Amino acid sequence: MISAQSALPVVAAAPKAAGEKLSVLLVEDSASDVELTLNELRRGGFEVSFDVVQTAEDFASCLRSGSYDVVLTDYNLPQWTGIEALELLRQEGQDIPLILVSGALPDVTAVNCIKEGAGDYILKDRLARLPAAVRSALQKKKLRDDREHAQRDLAQKAEELARSNRELEQFAYVASHDLQEPLRMVAAYTQLLGEKYHGKLDEQADKYIGYAVDGAKRMQTLIQDLLAFSRVGRQKDAFSLTDTNAVVEQAVSNLTAAIGESGAIVKYDGLPVVVANASLLAQLFQNLIGNAIKFHGGTAPEIRVTAQKQAAEWVFAVTDNGIGIAPEYLDDIFVIFKRLHTRNEYPGNGIGLAICRKIVEQHGGRIWVTSQEGQGSTFKFSLPASEPYFQPGPNCEN
Ligand code: ADP
Repeated sequence: MISAQSALPVVAAAPKAAGEKLSVLLVEDSASDVELTLNELRRGGFEVSFDVVQTAEDFASCLRSGSYDVVLTDYNLPQWTGIEALELLRQEGQDIPLILVSGALPDVTAVNCIKEGAGDYILKDRLARLPAAVRSALQKKKLRDDREHAQRDLAQKAEELARSNRELEQFAYVASHDLQEPLRMVAAYTQLLGEKYHGKLDEQADKYIGYAVDGAKRMQTLIQDLLAFSRVGRQKDAFSLTDTNAVVEQAVSNLTAAIGESGAIVKYDGLPVVVANASLLAQLFQNLIGNAIKFHGGTAPEIRVTAQKQAAEWVFAVTDNGIGIAPEYLDDIFVIFKRLHTRNEYPGNGIGLAICRKIVEQHGGRIWVTSQEGQGSTFKFSLPASEPYFQPGPNCEN
């Protein structure tokens, strides 16, 4: 091995180097070619430091001990070839641009080297092109490095986000779980106060106790809903092949009272079998169909549940003829506690759709809504399709 510090016979006088620093590992057995190459790089504006090797062993040991910006290698060497240098680079796990600097090569060989990862191929009698080729190889390497950094950053951010989400969910779960007991006490005793002292204090006291009872009850349902939200996905029930006809049937049966009161008609037919958690899916359909019943307009609710296979996923749709949603709220309504109406107009806590989104995302899908105010809404969600994906169900109407 010849290093930059060792005296090398100078073949051509090089112009004074001043410019970009470049550390080169040269694989070359001809001292004059080494000198020509270095001179060309200096002429091109590089301030070069270098090592020269001839054998694969020296090449590997230089790679391990040094830090190079670029490898310039002849193709035909006495004991090995330039393509083996490429393999060695890979084995050593080093991403250093490699440029072949060689006498004429058969086209197939040159193309093969490029395919294997060589950055460029320079003929020794056209060395003037070398500085530009080196710059271009360095630029590509920088782009590669930048992209890798960006990907690593992104993966790290995603991991941090996932961790902080997990912590937040844990907090919401613990808080809502632990708040239940003291809240039960407050609700029970304010109710007791109301019952025991009604009419015995003055009118204002009755009113105040009434407010306290109402507030405690409201907080109880809020806490219960929040607990239900944070419970989604905590039970690690396995996903299994699930007939969505049966799941919708279950959801509809859970809504018997609301369906009876409103005179709603719920139609579904020929829904597919998917890989899912059946109880989460039942909750999803129950929330969507329940909302379709709750937010009905002047006429009795008519609700249709359908599914369509689109590429590798099933897209389910729950369509109603209800009050619809203004375009500016179509995204917001999936956010926890977001409501568009007062509790006097329509009861609820604004958690149902947030639960729907959580369930769908846990199944690897998306949820969205299309709607026109006064014209009804269609809530759609996708689930990854899995074979067998279709099982004709009975024609059902409730
Ligand atoms: P909640 O039903 O308790 O209000 P949700 O999270 O289920 O909470 O729904 C959020 C809001 O989205 C509702 O308050 C309502 O304004 C709107 N919304 C949901 N489903 C429908 C629907 N089918 N038709 C019209 N508006 C709806």
